[in-house]
Amino acid sequence: MPAPDHQESLPPGMVLGPDGKPCRTCTDWKSWSKIGKAKAKKDSKESASSPSTSASGAAMAASAVAGSTPDASAASTFNYENECPPDKEILGRATWTFLHTMAAYYPEKPSAMEQTTMKSLLSSFSQFYPCGPCAEHLREEMKVDPPKVESRKELAWWMCGMHNKVNDILGKESFDCNKVDERWKDGPADGRCD
Ligand SMILES: Cc1cc2nc3c(=O)[nH]c(=O)nc-3n(C[C@H](O)[C@H](O)[C@H](O)COP(=O)(O)OP(=O)(O)OC[C@H]3O[C@@H](n4cnc5c(N)ncnc54)[C@H](O)[C@@H]3O)c2cc1C
Repeated sequence: MPAPDHQESLPPGMVLGPDGKPCRTCTDWKSWSKIGKAKAKKDSKESASSPSTSASGAAMAASAVAGSTPDASAASTFNYENECPPDKEILGRATWTFLHTMAAYYPEKPSAMEQTTMKSLLSSFSQFYPCGPCAEHLREEMKVDPPKVESRKELAWWMCGMHNKVNDILGKESFDCNKVDERWKDGPADGRCD
């Protein structure tokens, strides 16, 4: 059986999801946009040979190949992060913001019920995080190093450690966990965030 169209032309960096289709939330936008441009090129060729296709549709496809939108004023205000579904990077940044902030505001002395709820939340999160390979890696890490939910500080440091493991894999600098409250709760001492 021939491979589906999108698999034949899979660019480097592209990851497939469980449905066998390209996974936007597992892929960075640069790799993702290569698929979009290839598709636009194909659509553009098809629309050129199809008299029923509208001129604006062809213009849309052609401009997508060139990496712009057909409307110049729209192009000047276009912002991928604010207007498009998230790629792996945008999703990652937003999710870390949520996770670190949640840890920063977790109770200093959580009740037994709060500890159980937090464990359950993180377990569910690692099951449903929409970047499959990221979620799988997180689940593996959580088996080796389960969430520390006994206090706010422990959770904040555990989360920092988890993030540093991902940073390490991606070749990024390790974050100093002594600064986790400054980054996610209190802001810097010079008051520039106040
Ligand atoms: C659970 C999870 C798993 C992921 N797994 C993968 C993966 O396997 N492969 C992949 O390519 N991408 C993965 N990502 C995405 C990746 O971690 C980044 O979010 C993405 O690459 C964007 O990186 P960034 O440099 O913008 O900053 P991010 O890494 O998103 O960090 C955002 C901000 O957090 C702060 N920060 C950095 N490190 C720490 C830390 N240790 N503790 C506290 N604060 C910190 C910094 O101020 C930084 O600007 C994952 C994301 C999440 C949430």
